[in-house]
Amino acid sequence: MIIDIHIHTKPLSADSNLAAGEAIREAKRLGLDGICLTEHNKSWAHEDIEALRSQWDFPVFRGVEVDTIEGHVVVFGLYRDFEGVIRVEELRKAVIEEQGVMIAAHPFKGFRAFGFSELNLTPEQGSKRPVFKSVDVIEGFNGKSNEKENRLAQEVGNLLGLKVTGGSDAHNLEEVGRCVTIFKSEIYTERELIAELKAGRFSGDYYQRR
Ligand SMILES: [Zn+2]
Ligand SMILES: [Zn+2]
Repeated sequence: MIIDIHIHTKPLSADSNLAAGEAIREAKRLGLDGICLTEHNKSWAHEDIEALRSQWDFPVFRGVEVDTIEGHVVVFGLYRDFEGVIRVEELRKAVIEEQGVMIAAHPFKGFRAFGFSELNLTPEQGSKRPVFKSVDVIEGFNGKSNEKENRLAQEVGNLLGLKVTGGSDAHNLEEVGRCVTIFKSEIYTERELIAELKAGRFSGDYYQRR
């Protein structure tokens, strides 16, 4: 199953121009098999996701992209809202209690903005980022990161023995499906999604939009 596991929709993600229905229609048009709505610090309600699923007859999952001091982390299995910026270890504790899964989102995106060439980091140096100690998986294909940033994330995953996912991080219609995660099994429930992510039965990739 080909799933875009990182999408932002309005109004829960204030910086998104994309309505959930539009994202789903676009995902179907592109031939994807499912999407995950991963809003910034906010969770969809279970019944609202169920309503989307039955309205569109399409697998829709929910996660939360949490702001931590150590970087953005996409979480599945913890369906609540977050206030402010928390420490990744604090998030880790809560996720373990709920038997969820954590993904280091776009770990090297926009590093050039900091004014020194962190992108010349070797994978060894990059792997020292604290966030990697507290996650199960790394996002190695992020639709809003450039190829160099994604490659470094993939190399760090390789080095640390962590699998890499793909997700578009879409905030607009044209961004849906740019990157995807290809799962070996069929996934229809949140628990199945978490189990497959934890087991590493997937790979991340770019996806050709047409
Ligand atoms: Zn992010
Ligand atoms: Zn995001």
